[in-house]
Amino acid sequence: MDANITTMIAIKKSKNSNSSYLFDDPILGWAGNENSKKRFKSKYDLWTLQSTFKWANKKINKNKNNKKENSKIMIDKFFKLSNIKKTKIYYSLNHGWRYSSNSRPFKVKSYWDPRKRLGVCADWFVGPRLESGWISAHDLFKKILR
Ligand SMILES: Cc1cc2nc3c(=O)[nH]c(=O)nc-3n(C[C@H](O)[C@H](O)[C@H](O)COP(=O)(O)OP(=O)(O)OC[C@H]3O[C@@H](n4cnc5c(N)ncnc54)[C@H](O)[C@@H]3O)c2cc1C
Repeated sequence: MDANITTMIAIKKSKNSNSSYLFDDPILGWAGNENSKKRFKSKYDLWTLQSTFKWANKKINKNKNNKKENSKIMIDKFFKLSNIKKTKIYYSLNHGWRYSSNSRPFKVKSYWDPRKRLGVCADWFVGPRLESGWISAHDLFKKILR
């Protein structure tokens, strides 16, 4: 499993922001502009910054103690790589996932023990995305009905 460190920030509004950035960088992998989804109105620009798996795998075990330092590294990278003018950070929150993503699927999509009538399904059987969880659950559903 790969780890992921995510930092959410609220910064000063800028007029023309991309909806997201995919970076070719060893530390910062992706940044999403939450305002662009138009789910809510905010006086700030709200960004979700996601680390690369490689960097998070190295940092995750100490992320709870190094949240401030790791957030700062990601935020500095974000302004540098996006060319967005560095502004005050009004709010930031760092969250680490030790087991965030499985890029190597198992041979089975779910597990079902017919004797105990106990089953397991989850995204990590299949892959890293939401639909992986659905595919696994659907596979278990079919096994239960058999
Ligand atoms: C940072 C990040 C970004 C992501 N971005 C995307 C994306 O953009 N697009 C996409 O398609 N996918 C994305 N994913 C992946 C997606 O979130 C997962 O694939 C999906 O949530 C997996 O669904 P699931 O039902 O298998 O597991 P989960 O959503 O993890 O659900 C498991 C549930 O079980 C609960 N639980 C755990 N242990 C117990 C217990 N002992 N008792 C009771 N309850 C328990 C947990 O609290 C949780 O609610 C992302 C994941 C991460 C971490």
